[in-house]
Amino acid sequence: MRIKLEKTLNFTKKTRNQKNIQFIIIHYTGMQSERVSLNRLKDLKSKVSCHYFITRQGEILRLVEDNKVAWHAGKSRWRSKQNLNNQSIGIELQNKGHNLGYEKFSKIQIKSLVDILRKLKRKYHIKKKNILGHSDIAPLRKKDPGEKFPWELLSKKGLSIWYSNKRKKSNYSNIKNRRDTFFKNLYKIGYRYFKINKYSKNDRLIIKAFQMRFLPKKVNGRITDKTLKISHLLAHKS
Ligand SMILES: [Zn+2]
Repeated sequence: MRIKLEKTLNFTKKTRNQKNIQFIIIHYTGMQSERVSLNRLKDLKSKVSCHYFITRQGEILRLVEDNKVAWHAGKSRWRSKQNLNNQSIGIELQNKGHNLGYEKFSKIQIKSLVDILRKLKRKYHIKKKNILGHSDIAPLRKKDPGEKFPWELLSKKGLSIWYSNKRKKSNYSNIKNRRDTFFKNLYKIGYRYFKINKYSKNDRLIIKAFQMRFLPKKVNGRITDKTLKISHLLAHKS
């Protein structure tokens, strides 16, 4: 695997301890082209950056060293953690994103991603449950990497959690308080930014974030039987 070096000054200068690297966060750039994305990641005024940038041709660029904190996650939460920049490595995939013409990720781009994920996972002993999308940790603000990102494929390579359908069937249309049950499951998985017993107009965004990750063909912001079932299978895994 070849990694090309690029320079950005958008990172926290203090060196972090290797054992603080516990998460990998996957993004898309949401920019028109690679050139525009790279300019932004290097622009001092943008105050954004990432550790690795992967082009649509599968080229991997490193902008920030692993032992420095890059600025990719922003305000974010997952389980007991907040502001995940400090504990994570950020990987940006070039893609125009939902606002400019969301593209299928290219095969070679995903292959390079798999290579670098394997390497980082091994090097820092990162758990597969800690490889996440930006929308998982900031569901009210972010849609990346979105429903075209192949999480199921990653799970087959041991690089993401997924659910198993093998359990005996339960009837999910009979569950009384669907909303609270669903959000209880999401809380268990690690999602935040909601209250288990209190409806909010933001619920829809959380449901969508969950569906983009685990039910990508049916992102509708509603707690369908299938959505509820998958949340259940994931929350009661072990
Ligand atoms: Zn992002």
